[in-house]
Amino acid sequence: MVVPALFVTGETLPADDHTIRIRLFSELKPERLIFTPADGDYLIEVDGEEKGFVRTAEPLLVFRYGDRLAVKGGTLSGILSDSISIIPDGGTRFSLEIPGVEDSRRYYDDRLMVNLDGNLFFIVNKTSVERYLPGVVEAEGGNGIEDEFFRVQAVIARTYAYRNLDRHISDNYNLCDGVHCQAYYGKTGMAVIKSAVEATRGLVLTDSDTILVNALFHSNCGGETLSSGQVWLAQGSHLVSVRDPYCREMSNSIWRTTIPLQEWITYIYQFRESGRGSEGDIFRFEQPDRQEMLAISGYRPIPLREIRERFMLRSAFFSFVKEGDTLLVSGRGFGHGVGLCQQGAMVMAARGYNYRQIASFYYNGVMVVHIDDARYPETF
Ligand SMILES: [Zn+2]
Ligand SMILES: [Zn+2]
Repeated sequence: MVVPALFVTGETLPADDHTIRIRLFSELKPERLIFTPADGDYLIEVDGEEKGFVRTAEPLLVFRYGDRLAVKGGTLSGILSDSISIIPDGGTRFSLEIPGVEDSRRYYDDRLMVNLDGNLFFIVNKTSVERYLPGVVEAEGGNGIEDEFFRVQAVIARTYAYRNLDRHISDNYNLCDGVHCQAYYGKTGMAVIKSAVEATRGLVLTDSDTILVNALFHSNCGGETLSSGQVWLAQGSHLVSVRDPYCREMSNSIWRTTIPLQEWITYIYQFRESGRGSEGDIFRFEQPDRQEMLAISGYRPIPLREIRERFMLRSAFFSFVKEGDTLLVSGRGFGHGVGLCQQGAMVMAARGYNYRQIASFYYNGVMVVHIDDARYPETF
């Protein structure tokens, strides 16, 4: 694969790995930060010039001072700048911590860049895709234990990372560390995850034309996944509905909740067709198999996904019935239901299926190929 020129840095990385820039703490938006080398020295460059260094276990404080950045610690006694780079000089690993935010310490590899752009504090880790992935698999992978489950999750996370390298390109980084892109809270200590990433090194999911696919996943499908067309009208021939016998005994398989009846009536009346009375039963709906719409005579069809969002339901795979002054809602699954079902994949892994078989079960017609043999979708 030809990686877009913007991401080629000339730094030495193995041929099957690539540079990636991740914006850190993107959801917390901190304005101060403590950097601490974990295992060796780091050089500090201020506005492109080498200004000093910081040694193992010495904290370096970076904070906003008016419209500039201030750096204090190591051999620096207080410098103002617009951007700083912290570059390994013997060290490989460092921690970051947001002062005053409990449990905010996280570990990272390679380089760190901090920039101020107007009021926005950008903390960007420049690392490699393969070193970034284990942390993503831990953050996105739920509480699995099986090797093959983490392997399929690693291939999915890698596919996402490569397919979305341009997601934040206008701000000069590739992906953020929040759920907007892929959750990433720094390096993982879980050996099973590190070896799953290593075992699938460079491997991604493509369609039969070797184009990187949108490898969507969710927690539990409730026994039947949704095709992407049903949910977002997006193209994606690999995202078809699959009957899933594996996830039904798992924790997120079924759920119940209630909606106050008056709230439901107010909501549903918005969809009443003018000039017609409310003919259909608005208090009873059965969904033995996944449907896309709530269709009641006298009402405009309502996408179940919209009802899910409005009432914050765990999935759009639900039925309901009136009981007293509430609507009793019973549902199956957790999440949007498209693509791989994580809890089903965990059960498949426990029953001896490998990650390729698991991927093929949930994604129609996909191939596992090396990133060098994969291509970007045309819109890239
Ligand atoms: Zn993002
Ligand atoms: Zn499932």
